[in-house]
Amino acid sequence: MKLYEISFRLILLGVWARFVSGFGLGVLLLSLSLSGLSGCAWTHTSNSEFISTEPAPIKVLIVDGQNNHYIWPKSTAMMKAFLEESGQFSVDVYRTQYTWRGDKLIEQYPANDGRVHEIVAEAKTDPTFAPEFAHYAVVISNFGWKAAPWPEATKRAFEQYMQNGGGFVSVHAANNAFPKWLEYNKMIGLGGWGGRNQKDGPYIYYTNSGKLKRDMSAGQGGGHGFVHPFDIDARKGAHPIMQGLPASWEHSEDELYNRLRGPAENLTVLATAFDDKKHNGFGRHEPVLMTVNYHQGRVFHTTLGHGENVYADPMFMTVLAKGVAWAAGATRTEKGAN
Ligand SMILES: [Zn+2]
Repeated sequence: MKLYEISFRLILLGVWARFVSGFGLGVLLLSLSLSGLSGCAWTHTSNSEFISTEPAPIKVLIVDGQNNHYIWPKSTAMMKAFLEESGQFSVDVYRTQYTWRGDKLIEQYPANDGRVHEIVAEAKTDPTFAPEFAHYAVVISNFGWKAAPWPEATKRAFEQYMQNGGGFVSVHAANNAFPKWLEYNKMIGLGGWGGRNQKDGPYIYYTNSGKLKRDMSAGQGGGHGFVHPFDIDARKGAHPIMQGLPASWEHSEDELYNRLRGPAENLTVLATAFDDKKHNGFGRHEPVLMTVNYHQGRVFHTTLGHGENVYADPMFMTVLAKGVAWAAGATRTEKGAN
């Protein structure tokens, strides 16, 4: 990673130390300035991008509570802390009444959503789960594999919120969740596991010669090789989320999701990673950062974020913050930059 290529401020985040004490002394983080998003009302950064700022921070809601990745209460807290420390976002958390996995981290990293929570052995639908989506510019999902379906009324409310121009960010195993919810699958574009296969849509990947493939061959949706560090290659450097980032950078040890499939409508692959066979991969350049335009809504989808080490990776968090800002509508994509 060539730091000089990136227009971010280097700041020491005291709050961060409590999360990353296991990763060494005095962790320096790259905090995103969002290309000057703080300070001025409108910044003309290039011919294809305007960044607008409101005096008030962007309102973000993280929803969570049921995820096979037991670190979820901590990864939620880490995302919230980073976004808020950037000065650009205010973040609330709304958690299912019934929580699944998460272990003792649920106590350590409470949602502070004023709701009563109960640990259950098998994920089940929380009939009281009804976030006020419309109060937020963007919703981040930290749900995961085997999360129980949301109540029907909440699903409809979320569809309405997105269709009317809401923002959504899908992080890692959030794309494992809700395989039978068609509108959700349209929002995330690609998903994995839960019985996903050719009935759900194509595989999307880049070939070695740089061609984007929509592959309708039969097969399961979702997989990954061994956890390992890998390079991320930008595919749409002009997109507001990608501007200021290097053409390629090394990502922390993580799962590299492969063979995701879904409707993939209005989907833009922003970046890929090569799923090397030597790490038990499939030899394709798999999408790891994507956007989806869903009616009037904007979706940023990152397949990254398996372990808590990833949430201490400044590049991951920086890209996440840029994706959240874009999904919130704070960075505007003009025609052609998509
Ligand atoms: Zn994972």
